Amino acid sequence: MNELLSKNIDELGEILVKMGEKPFVAKQLKAWLDKGALFGEMTNLSKSLRQKLSDNYTEGYAKVVEKLTSTDGTIKYLMSMHGGGLIECVVMTYEHGSTLCVSTQIGCRMGCTFCASGSEGLIRNLSTAEMMSQFIEVNKHDRISNVVLMGSGEPLDNYDNTVAFIRALNTEQDIGMRHISLSTCGIVQGILKLARENMQVTLCLSLHSALDNKRKQIMPTANAYSVKEIIDAAKIYFKNTGRRIIIEYTLISGFNDSGSDIDALVSVTKALSCHINVIPLNQVSGDLTEPSQKQAYAFAAQLTSRGRSATVRRSLGSDIEGACGQLKFKREGQ
Ligand code: SF4
Repeated sequence: MNELLSKNIDELGEILVKMGEKPFVAKQLKAWLDKGALFGEMTNLSKSLRQKLSDNYTEGYAKVVEKLTSTDGTIKYLMSMHGGGLIECVVMTYEHGSTLCVSTQIGCRMGCTFCASGSEGLIRNLSTAEMMSQFIEVNKHDRISNVVLMGSGEPLDNYDNTVAFIRALNTEQDIGMRHISLSTCGIVQGILKLARENMQVTLCLSLHSALDNKRKQIMPTANAYSVKEIIDAAKIYFKNTGRRIIIEYTLISGFNDSGSDIDALVSVTKALSCHINVIPLNQVSGDLTEPSQKQAYAFAAQLTSRGRSATVRRSLGSDIEGACGQLKFKREGQ
């Protein structure tokens, strides 16, 4: 059955007019859909219209298949998408509010070796409505103030749907652009295109090594884009948006944590307005080794002693299959 969540006001108006309604009812219907209401709950629509809608359409929301709450308060949802397939999204609670991590694709074709989502390859892009359905479902229970596009998928590999989702979050759900972050593994053309969108979204770069030869070992996209090209694109992004770049650096013990790794990272970030998030690896496979908390803090301390802004990102939800894709794999493997 056709869903309505993906329709804009004009499209909803056309549907309603065919049902004998006035076009202005589309605005009321859209407001209910944005809140996640079921047809039966849309109390300012007539009973007969609600009946006609449910006979011919579905709302198009995601369905929660499983919900796990960590001892630290992090909540992980496994959701079934309207168009088929499972994704995960995570809510992290901070002092300043709740942040939702949204998935933009089912699977991912970027193939980063440390990532569970990348190991299955790309299954399909999510539509704008499917991204929004993650927000709507979670926002019904937990008021979301920030959104990060860091779940499964490479957002810039699903560019148009992702940008439309960001604009809709801003205009329909009242999430400020500065409260939205997009994480990329470094798709240079995508970063440059995003820099021209006139959106003040925070750009997070998954760098993980400042050395091309090491990046190539863990991130196949490093064969297409050098660290220099990625950093140059990030500089343009900062110039256009004024938003400080976030560098994500997954720390892998014995791989990217040496003195020469720090030298390279300090060198490439020299003329870039950025903050470095050191993220201790959450081990997915046996090949890469997790660092201790002590190692992670020592790494960040060396960066700050050399003039960089750097912190260790606390690991949330580690007792509920914290790394992206782990819950989904557990479920599918049952
Ligand atoms: S880390 Fe991100 S870009 Fe890399 S495979 Fe996983 S989801 Fe894709």
